Amino acid sequence: MKTIALIAHDGKKAEMVAFVKDHIENLRKADLIATGTTGTYVKQTGLEVELKLSGPKGGDAQIAALAAEGKIDGIIFFRDPLGKHPHEPDIQMLMRICDLYNVPLATNPGTGALIIEGLLDDDTK
Ligand code: PGA
Repeated sequence: MKTIALIAHDGKKAEMVAFVKDHIENLRKADLIATGTTGTYVKQTGLEVELKLSGPKGGDAQIAALAAEGKIDGIIFFRDPLGKHPHEPDIQMLMRICDLYNVPLATNPGTGALIIEGLLDDDTK
């Protein structure tokens, strides 16, 4: 079972929900974790999601820690390129951890789809 983390900034939450609906059959095969508010939205699609803290309250840092421990197979993180974020240092840290430990990280639906297809398309993975 693969573990996928989902995070979306406020300006991207609707896009994340649409993305999850587009890939819902593949995502059913994964363990999903998400930052608090993103996860609450994603749950409305009917998928089970383990909720971490809200991003600004440390949720990105919790997901980064799991990535560093090798417990996450891919992260889909729709950042809002137009917004300012109080937790910018945590965002940078999460991306740094992904690069350090070679954890696939997607920041838009195009690469998000590739991560889902790459990790989940084949049931035997
Ligand atoms: P949220 O956090 O899902 O709790 O809104 C996302 C973020 O802002 O990093």
